[in-house]
Amino acid sequence: MRHPRALKTIMPAWAAALMLAAGPAFLMAPPAAAESKPAVAKDARLAGDRERTRFIADLSKKVEVHAFALGNPYRVIIDAPDVSFQMPAGLGKETRGLVTAYRYGLFAPGKSRIVIDVSGPFLIDKAFVLEPRDDQPARLVIDLVPTDEKTFLAKLQESKPQDTSAGSAPPLPSPSPSPDAKLVVVLDPGHGGIDPGTKSASGTTEKEVVLAFAKILKTKLEAGGRYEVHMTREDDTFLPLRERVAFAQKRVAGLFLSIHADYFPDKPEIARGATVYTLSEEASDQEAKDLAAKENFSDVIAGVELPSDSDEVLANILIDLTQRETQNRSVVFARSIVGELAGKGSLHTRRLRSAGFRVLKAPDVPSVLLELGFLSNPEDEKRLVSDPWRERMAGSVVKAIDGYFAKRLARNRL
Ligand SMILES: [Zn+2]
Repeated sequence: MRHPRALKTIMPAWAAALMLAAGPAFLMAPPAAAESKPAVAKDARLAGDRERTRFIADLSKKVEVHAFALGNPYRVIIDAPDVSFQMPAGLGKETRGLVTAYRYGLFAPGKSRIVIDVSGPFLIDKAFVLEPRDDQPARLVIDLVPTDEKTFLAKLQESKPQDTSAGSAPPLPSPSPSPDAKLVVVLDPGHGGIDPGTKSASGTTEKEVVLAFAKILKTKLEAGGRYEVHMTREDDTFLPLRERVAFAQKRVAGLFLSIHADYFPDKPEIARGATVYTLSEEASDQEAKDLAAKENFSDVIAGVELPSDSDEVLANILIDLTQRETQNRSVVFARSIVGELAGKGSLHTRRLRSAGFRVLKAPDVPSVLLELGFLSNPEDEKRLVSDPWRERMAGSVVKAIDGYFAKRLARNRL
């Protein structure tokens, strides 16, 4: 889940669900015989005003950059190969001129990304990297100027499309599993890389705790010898939501578990414990609806192009036609988790909640999203970073997975 502050910029976008990609504003050739050592980004700052806003990042050497615009919400995406970000803490919250925030991080292996949030329609007037000179480091410079909506959209359409995904191919047709193959479970630690997810007051990030938990869960599941376990990410890499779905489909997963941590600053004392979610078109309640919007925000944070209106409509029809059985199974699995956690004091609510989580949209893979706890609650935070707690929690989830498959296999034998 994401901090609600960031959500405000995107909410109107869900209704429109219009997303356009623009081509490169500027492409710079890499220096000849570039060293293999990654460039280090050491600092960044904003300059100028609403008439011209400049983003500057200091780099240890010149790199090839690819800058382009995304609309709805307005963003500048700057991609570069292999940049190591060693920026001072707390950068990116500054508002200046047209820029409301920016962030940076790994987008895919060997691909680094900076995403700049912009308050209104704009043009990338300049995008270049200066060679280091005298005692000055190499500098990435992006100049943004305001424009009207019509010109912004025209420019976007003109230069469409660049690949704004993390670079993986569409899913392959699913092979049929052999009868005595192990049961395939896909674990999906949320967020990663450029998208830290939510953050506790002391700085613990969701992306870290969910990855650490998923690793322990994987080890436990594999120890029993019954499961083949895959993780959508094994390190601090970002993966777009639809690619997480495709990952599970490609591996013909019998279960998909997306793992997250929640944040609810309004009631930090009350909001604690785990919550289990499944997919539904209509949200079960307002809290679930808000949470899905926040979790779906991951792609926006990382500068991923969202599906257009028509894709979304099509996806919903497909869900109707093919997903009922999968949905039933998802609910059985979700109940199994709630059953294991109930009575152990680990649940926020026994109620099953549901909403339109993009990451749960595989029509053929039973999928559940588990919020492990609340990073806004200091007690929960202590648990989330504690290895003994992770072990116990992972043990319960293993039992829930065992229970789910036992029920399914028993039903198949009838
Ligand atoms: Zn999350």
